[in-house]
Amino acid sequence: MTGTSTTVVPKPRPPIEAAAPAGELPMVTQPALPFFEIETLRAEQFIPNAKEALGSMIAEQAQDKLIRPVFNWAGRNSLFPLHWGLACCAIEFAAAFGARWDAERFGVVPRSSPRQCDLLIVNGTVTWKVAHKLITLYEQMPEPKWVIAMGNCATGGGPFRTAYSVVPGVDKLVPVDVYIAGCPPRPEALLDGILLLERLIQERRE
Ligand code: SF4
Repeated sequence: MTGTSTTVVPKPRPPIEAAAPAGELPMVTQPALPFFEIETLRAEQFIPNAKEALGSMIAEQAQDKLIRPVFNWAGRNSLFPLHWGLACCAIEFAAAFGARWDAERFGVVPRSSPRQCDLLIVNGTVTWKVAHKLITLYEQMPEPKWVIAMGNCATGGGPFRTAYSVVPGVDKLVPVDVYIAGCPPRPEALLDGILLLERLIQERRE
């Protein structure tokens, strides 16, 4: 019995239409398979498609061109939050990374050095006494970076917002991308906030 063989012809990559304005990364106009579709594939299809896409990225990088969707795709799936808990909300943060909620399945891996982190999750009551420490940690994080205000205290001072010692919202100190309500918010709410941030990163263009 003779077997039949099939030849897989790779799809040609679409051209990049025009040079991006200075300071912006170029966009692919019609990618062979958009990255948000690749993420929905099952494992046996995901690996060859991701391999093709990453091969294209390396080729584009060799020409000093980075493709924004690829950059966003990688960034949104490898968030490194800083280990930094302030009060009761930090317990919910810790629970979100335990076996039951397993936040790491979304590619979120806490790190202990701000220089390795791109996500600051402020979880707890921020006082003016630690405000300068929070700003220092934020400034030590490399760009691009994001901030989640987790819980009522971080969002607006919570039950202590009228106290002389409490910062009435961490957005008085650093720019906040996602606010999570609750006192405390449950781990599911934190996961929801992380997924919202991942969507924002996916749509990022600048
Ligand atoms: S929001 Fe509530 S649970 Fe969270 S740190 Fe403030 S008082 Fe504690």
